[in-house]
Amino acid sequence: MDNTAVLSLAAALVGACVGSFLNVVAWRLPRQESVVLPPSHCTRCGGVLAWYDNSPVIGWLLLGGRCRRCRTPIAARYPLVELLTAGLWVAAVWATPTAMGPAADAMALRLAGWLLLSWLIPLVLIDLDHLWLPEPLCRWGVVLGLACTALIGFAQGDPSGRALLFQHLLAAGVGLLGSEAVSALGERLLGQPALGLGDAKLAALLGAWLGLGGLGLAVLLAVVSGAVAGGVGRLSGRLGPRDPFAFGPYLALGGAGVWLLGNQVWLDLLHRALGARVL
Ligand SMILES: [Zn+2]
Repeated sequence: MDNTAVLSLAAALVGACVGSFLNVVAWRLPRQESVVLPPSHCTRCGGVLAWYDNSPVIGWLLLGGRCRRCRTPIAARYPLVELLTAGLWVAAVWATPTAMGPAADAMALRLAGWLLLSWLIPLVLIDLDHLWLPEPLCRWGVVLGLACTALIGFAQGDPSGRALLFQHLLAAGVGLLGSEAVSALGERLLGQPALGLGDAKLAALLGAWLGLGGLGLAVLLAVVSGAVAGGVGRLSGRLGPRDPFAFGPYLALGGAGVWLLGNQVWLDLLHRALGARVL
């Protein structure tokens, strides 16, 4: 096996374990519980999971999706999140991000990708559950994005590092203020805020990681995918006209797509879509 294949296998295994931890974060953070202690337990009977029950995906399958003690079903979401995280970690090995400059170190980009994608998962889960994007997760996500930008940027030389960091700082500000402006405009036109305050903070996070161009593409992808999902939800009757709609997952989806494939793939796609319209 070559190096990339070995790395992919390792990424799948570590990613599944990280996904298991992210499940715990998404459950406990909104409940203001420690994410470290106590160890994983059944939320109904309090029975502590043995280490072999706790192994990602396989533990859930061995238990038949039920608590060993009280037989309460354990949501299929847990193993699915573990599989998703594993998949994203493998994707980050093969990713071609353009957000960190043209001469960025390949391994540094993988590490940054693992961090970014893992950071987005609890934000998505908590937004789906509670329509809330926790402030500390967003704030530290911005800090980590700028830190990764500085580390990877300055490794390519001082001028590129400075330019990259400035551009990503600017994008974080544009993400925050731009979203708040859109939200205020929505409030004037529609009588309700178009976006939550959390969405503005998540946009700032994406700006810090992706820079200006990447942020623009991620927001565009979020609007398109959110509109499609909202339209399907309305047509199928699952989403009422006044039902709350979490936009964070679509922002995260756009951000992940831009990180994994790089800006150019999406720009080409956009040109083709616009070209088809004009013709
Ligand atoms: Zn139980």
